[in-house]
Amino acid sequence: MVLAYRVGAKLRDTDTVQYHPTGAAYPQQIIGLLLTEKLRGMGAQPVNKDGEAFVFPLEPRDVEAASFIRECYVRDKGIVTPTGMRGVWLDTPMIELKNGKGTIEKSFPGMFRMFQRFDIDMRKDPMLVFPTLHYQNGGVETDPWGRTNIDGLWVAGEVSGGVHGKNRLMGNSTLDCLVFGRRAGMNAAEYLKSKPAQGKLSLEHVKTYTDMLKKAGIDTSRKAPMLLPDYRGKAVLARMIDIF
Ligand SMILES: Cc1cc2nc3c(=O)[nH]c(=O)nc-3n(C[C@H](O)[C@H](O)[C@H](O)COP(=O)(O)OP(=O)(O)OC[C@H]3O[C@@H](n4cnc5c(N)ncnc54)[C@H](O)[C@@H]3O)c2cc1C
Repeated sequence: MVLAYRVGAKLRDTDTVQYHPTGAAYPQQIIGLLLTEKLRGMGAQPVNKDGEAFVFPLEPRDVEAASFIRECYVRDKGIVTPTGMRGVWLDTPMIELKNGKGTIEKSFPGMFRMFQRFDIDMRKDPMLVFPTLHYQNGGVETDPWGRTNIDGLWVAGEVSGGVHGKNRLMGNSTLDCLVFGRRAGMNAAEYLKSKPAQGKLSLEHVKTYTDMLKKAGIDTSRKAPMLLPDYRGKAVLARMIDIF
């Protein structure tokens, strides 16, 4: 996305970010981790420090998130966590009261286990939540084929603007990526067919890159450009089953 901006892609005025209302505010290790909207869908009620249900739980994301921020930082009705962050309660025990015993383990098995590791039992204890950054309505202007104002640059997904306006509705980003990614790919292929060949294809650039590494004294066994560093620790790697 930064690249698209840097090369001067034209933007619409729909360049906004979207907050998800329920990011974890506690414990510290998982701050910001997204806690699915299904929790509120199944009856978990946001509650302030005085136990008041200050917002309808099924508002759109922006309204729900804004009300949490207001509760914490304008009305001063948030709960201060041990690390000084503020959040509101998400009353997850309500889920079992409304849907019966065992619902949480059945409907949220991964989340249930994760919180158990931190000694929090979602069936009995409410969670502490605060809005978390979730999605970018990137804003790069395209035509219906993903073409931008820059010749040879197509975009699809979060970088693009227009499909969702300023406020994406939940769950439709994957659809956007698939539909407009496909259209952009098809159009790019057509475009390339119409262009004269730019010389013979080769892997010369890989050789140049390897030579540059050698010259700079960088010794690496890396086979391809690394997009993200490997965050796995020794304990996790030890549990891996090598199937190859
Ligand atoms: C926790 C979470 C849950 C979600 N759940 C849903 C859901 O249920 N349904 C739904 O529809 N959407 C969901 N979304 C949104 C959806 O996943 C994303 O909007 C979508 O994956 C974005 O795809 P993208 O290709 O636009 O961007 P990305 O998936 O972010 O792809 C951009 C890629 O570009 C690479 N990149 C960045 N800079 C460079 C560079 N300089 N050089 C080379 N590569 C670069 C990145 O490494 C990345 O691989 C969720 C998002 C989050 C965070």
